[in-house]
Amino acid sequence: MPELPEVEMICRMLRERILNQKVISVNVLLPRIIREGDLNTIVGSVFTRVYRQGKFICFDLDNELKMYAHLRMTGTFLWQDDLPKKPSHVRVEIEFEKGTLLYRDIRTLGGIWIAENGKPPWKKMGVDPFDDEFTSERLSEMFDKRKIAVKQALLDQSLIAGLGNIYSSEALFKANIHPGRTAGSLDINEITRLRDAIKEILTAAIEAKGTTFRDFQLSDGKEGGFQDFLSVYRKEGLLCSRCGTQIERIVQAQRSTYFCPKCQG
Ligand SMILES: [Zn+2]
Repeated sequence: MPELPEVEMICRMLRERILNQKVISVNVLLPRIIREGDLNTIVGSVFTRVYRQGKFICFDLDNELKMYAHLRMTGTFLWQDDLPKKPSHVRVEIEFEKGTLLYRDIRTLGGIWIAENGKPPWKKMGVDPFDDEFTSERLSEMFDKRKIAVKQALLDQSLIAGLGNIYSSEALFKANIHPGRTAGSLDINEITRLRDAIKEILTAAIEAKGTTFRDFQLSDGKEGGFQDFLSVYRKEGLLCSRCGTQIERIVQAQRSTYFCPKCQG
């Protein structure tokens, strides 16, 4: 599932390919991917800015229209000219002056929104880990008196935007915090370690993605070689790189969490 680093990489690719280009035509191969509005209305518009808000990709146009996309499990954007041949599962094509952008989605859970009033499709967006507002103090306020497990709090997109199952497990390992602790029980030192760990993990993931990203985009969304970069995620039964204890898996709110019982005890 694409998390913040994957979405950030896609934004970077999109900026290189589509900024300041006019849309020539669109082709919607699977209508339900367009969740709101009419994609035909962007024909003739120029894309002026592409940026990320949590796991949403936001597109500014040179008029009052805005486009948003969420990749969910297996969505991705691909530039057709970068590929040896056209991939399977393409759901939407957007033709620009200099090439064609493809939206590919195997499980079709992702979507594209065209907002005539610019209004975003999300209700409440949490703080982005790369925003200046993402401080220990802010995290401390979010967690204050909360009875839910810290792992679940990290997945709550209305608190922190962009973290998913992989990087929340990894950040808790890096910060030596047990995933089952209640969010409200963390002291300020633990919160500071967690905040720093989240930023470090995401930054390293974005750098590591630079080399393996194409494979990820063309796969079914599984991580592939990127596994080597991870310390605990899907490493159940393997030995902790720090202390040699077996990594364990627990299920929290129907999601698997991986952790070292000793380092995070
Ligand atoms: Zn350990």
